Amino acid sequence: MSNDLYTYLKDHGEDPILDTSGFTNSYVYDSYKNLAYEHLKSANEPEALVRSHDHEFEFVYINNQEINAFAFIYEKTDVIGLNIGTVHQLETYFANALNTGIFEWVIEKKQREILLYLLMSMAVEFIILHELGHLYHGHLEFDSCSRPFRKMIDRNLNYEEHLESRTLEMDADAYATSRSFGKFLSFDLNQNPPIIRSANDLLRFWIFATNSFFYLFEEEAADFQNIHQENYYPRALRQAVNIDISTIVVKQNKPEFAECYEEIFREMFPLCEKVYKEVGTHNPSLNRFEEILSLADRRRIEYMEEVNLYYREVLYNKLLKHARNKLYKKL
Ligand SMILES: [Zn+2]
Repeated sequence: MSNDLYTYLKDHGEDPILDTSGFTNSYVYDSYKNLAYEHLKSANEPEALVRSHDHEFEFVYINNQEINAFAFIYEKTDVIGLNIGTVHQLETYFANALNTGIFEWVIEKKQREILLYLLMSMAVEFIILHELGHLYHGHLEFDSCSRPFRKMIDRNLNYEEHLESRTLEMDADAYATSRSFGKFLSFDLNQNPPIIRSANDLLRFWIFATNSFFYLFEEEAADFQNIHQENYYPRALRQAVNIDISTIVVKQNKPEFAECYEEIFREMFPLCEKVYKEVGTHNPSLNRFEEILSLADRRRIEYMEEVNLYYREVLYNKLLKHARNKLYKKL
């Protein structure tokens, strides 16, 4: 990392970690970094690019124990920052979840360890792709975007900025879902580790990993003392986007899978919630919002409609001038 970029991050209150080689399990940190570069390479393939660019890329770990990540452009360098707390919290949560025996065919210690790292890498990959979505869908370059960092949590925004922000968040989630889920659908099952009995298990793990992340993240993102529904992007909406996009990806890539996929969703959602209630940190005020967070709630539908309208009528055309990968017609 250049000295200038390092100073810029420091000046903005971030504490970049230059070297993770002394960390316990440093190979895990290396593997996530490699994931970021792998996906960057795919995003830059000629068939994926709709606009050429000359930006460099930097992936950096941030010394911060909160779950969070961010993307920004420094001069001509695209930067993704990931708080190391994200890795720690996911590791603790998934280890505790696996100890409850949720996946009953994964019993031996060695197998649980393999699955722990698979779940962690699925969740981290989703987060990295979400940030890459901000960069490659032009979220940081259009005219009304004045904030230097696009953070997953940002509490100091007015209503208009919130609407824009949550629309962009949804677009970034759509980017992440289509790419991470698409990747696991094309996974070569001949090389499967013993924890994967069939492709269905891969779906189960992916749904569990991404949705558990939504639970953990929401705990930190939502300010339950002063909640305004429009001020954050609740878990139920992220789940809804996740369902919609991944269903489209399944239908396009593996239509023979579509039916059992829906069944697996119905099986996994209650399981994610049950496990969260068992091993999550139990934010006591979370229950008060179960109604708002329910997938069938009227307010959720209105919220989605507002975002979709804003995307179609306002943002899509603005983003078109800057997006490097193809935009979605609708969210
Ligand atoms: Zn975001």
